[in-house]
Amino acid sequence: MGSPENRVSIRPPAVTRARATAALLVAGSALVAISLVLPHPSGGDETALVLTALAMAVAGGFVWLTAKRIPGIGVHLLLAAVTAVTSLLIYESGIAVGQYGTIFVWATLVTSIYFPRRIAALHLGWLLVTYGTVLLLVESTAGYSPLTRWLFTMISLSVVMLLITSIVARRARADERARRFFDLSRDMLCTANAEGYFVELNDAWSVHLGYAPDELRAVPFLERVHPDDRERTEAESAGLFEGAETLQFENRYLAKDGSWHWLRWSSQLSPDESMVYARATDVTHLKQIEAEREELLGQVQEMARHDQLTGLSNRRALEEQLPRAMARARRRRSPLSVAILDIDHFKDYNDSHGHLAGDEVLRACAKAWDSALRGEDMIVRFGGEEFLVLLPDTPPEQAAEIVERLRSNTPMGQTCSAGLACWDFAESIDDLLGRADKALYLAKAGGRNQLAEATLSE
Ligand code: GH3
Ligand code: MG
Ligand code: MG
Repeated sequence: MGSPENRVSIRPPAVTRARATAALLVAGSALVAISLVLPHPSGGDETALVLTALAMAVAGGFVWLTAKRIPGIGVHLLLAAVTAVTSLLIYESGIAVGQYGTIFVWATLVTSIYFPRRIAALHLGWLLVTYGTVLLLVESTAGYSPLTRWLFTMISLSVVMLLITSIVARRARADERARRFFDLSRDMLCTANAEGYFVELNDAWSVHLGYAPDELRAVPFLERVHPDDRERTEAESAGLFEGAETLQFENRYLAKDGSWHWLRWSSQLSPDESMVYARATDVTHLKQIEAEREELLGQVQEMARHDQLTGLSNRRALEEQLPRAMARARRRRSPLSVAILDIDHFKDYNDSHGHLAGDEVLRACAKAWDSALRGEDMIVRFGGEEFLVLLPDTPPEQAAEIVERLRSNTPMGQTCSAGLACWDFAESIDDLLGRADKALYLAKAGGRNQLAEATLSE
């Protein structure tokens, strides 16, 4: 359970309570007015009855109009005054009992439904004292003694009170259960009115955002929504009041410590369309994890497509790029050439200079060749000391020129051999690479440090 100041009041707020009191007072005055046309014992003063009705109507109107400003104690004092004045006027009217019991039933209704039990008991006590006093003062009317009338009124009021109390008690139990669930939720539960203010909030709001409920109620909800999310949020709220349901809406809300919290909303318009019921889940942490996961995934994907030693794309990246290059070449009917470059006698180099020096050669080759190529070309570390060059829009003669330029640019005094193949628009990737590899074999067999071109008809 929450601390007392955080606790949500299930009883209607003061304004609603004052308005309901006003409405019941006016309804009570209507009942008195109706009793005017009912048959009643002779000798009754109708003026007093009219005054009773008027007093109640005026009191009702006054409470209604001042509901927003009238303090809680004002409502109680007014009710007590109306009870006293009404009793006095009954005394003045000289007639009693049945018809006027209704007035007290109304007053009792007001007090028992809308006020805490202690206050309701006070009002009822006041009512019985004033009414009892009046009945004792009034001469015997309608053939009943004051004691009979007193007992009659006591019994009828007690029955009404019992009924009302049991209804109220059942409602209070249901309210208590609802409030416990309301506060128990780790999700932020709330209601909001059409003006964009929070009305009821559970404890989770304070736990997640650090505000006291009154601080949240004090400003329009939108004021603390992230400026970048405001327009979307406004549109979503407008949709809500047109009957749409919010299921997975997300926006950022300012916490008391100045940080932004991601909230995921599900909300719904109340059946009478006057307010919105909403549940917000704080997904800030989830979002962070999601972002970190995305970043990590990006890094892993980046790593999976690159060769760590040279930084060039690797065979996996080639497997993705080559089919695309082929599709593009086929669409445009433009030639696509592929060359495999292999450093000559690299094993010997490693053996005499060491593996680390060999690595240096590989890195230097990657850098030199990569920078010598056009933007649309691709160079891949194909294997140990083998590199593959993909040349879109390049016929064999031009491809041969490019590869020769690369070969002559082999760094650190090394040489390399190359096999070149131009795609025939029909063969598979394996066949194309197989032809380039065969050409490379021919270049090696022909004495190394040279380029060999594959023929199509092999
Ligand atoms: P050839 O002229 O016939 O190509 O002879 P070669 O020695 O270059 O070819 P071979 O296939 O016999 O040897 C390739 C060598 O490349 C063997 C291996 O140690 C070396 N190598 C493969 N990957 C790496 C690497 O990442 N770093 C280094 N330093 N050497 C590598
Ligand atoms: Mg090799
Ligand atoms: Mg080699």
